[in-house]
Amino acid sequence: MKIISYSDLIINGSDISYQDLLLTFEWRTKRNEIIERDNKRCTKCNFSETYGHKSFENGKYSYITDDGTEDQITFTNNNGKIVTENIPKLVVTDKPYFLHVHHKFYVYNQLPWEYLDTALVTLCNWCHTELHQNETIIMYSDRTLQILKT
Ligand SMILES: [Zn+2]
Ligand SMILES: [Zn+2]
Repeated sequence: MKIISYSDLIINGSDISYQDLLLTFEWRTKRNEIIERDNKRCTKCNFSETYGHKSFENGKYSYITDDGTEDQITFTNNNGKIVTENIPKLVVTDKPYFLHVHHKFYVYNQLPWEYLDTALVTLCNWCHTELHQNETIIMYSDRTLQILKT
């Protein structure tokens, strides 16, 4: 995957597809900001990019590391006490997961990174696919409507 800037894409002269736009430096930057904001997890199923596929028990996440060994993380509060409640539920699975950033709506002729942060949300590839299969994403004809909606 080669990441280039939008200006380089325009200079190139050829037809620019939506996929091309998603490979720009501008979109990668915006996308990373949204994923950071959402704590690097799918806002629907809680799959976490940081902690991967893990099971949670008694304040500890058990997981299998890349080299195949088992490891654990404990969550502590500000006073160093181990926290066992209100810890986000994580997905246990061996399916491949990736984080995507989804547009809740589109605006005609608007570049993917020109949306307000409130129009963007982090989803895993599975929840993202499911959402697009079940919902039609509204395309607004101009930006004024976007502001009314968010
Ligand atoms: Zn998900
Ligand atoms: Zn989407």
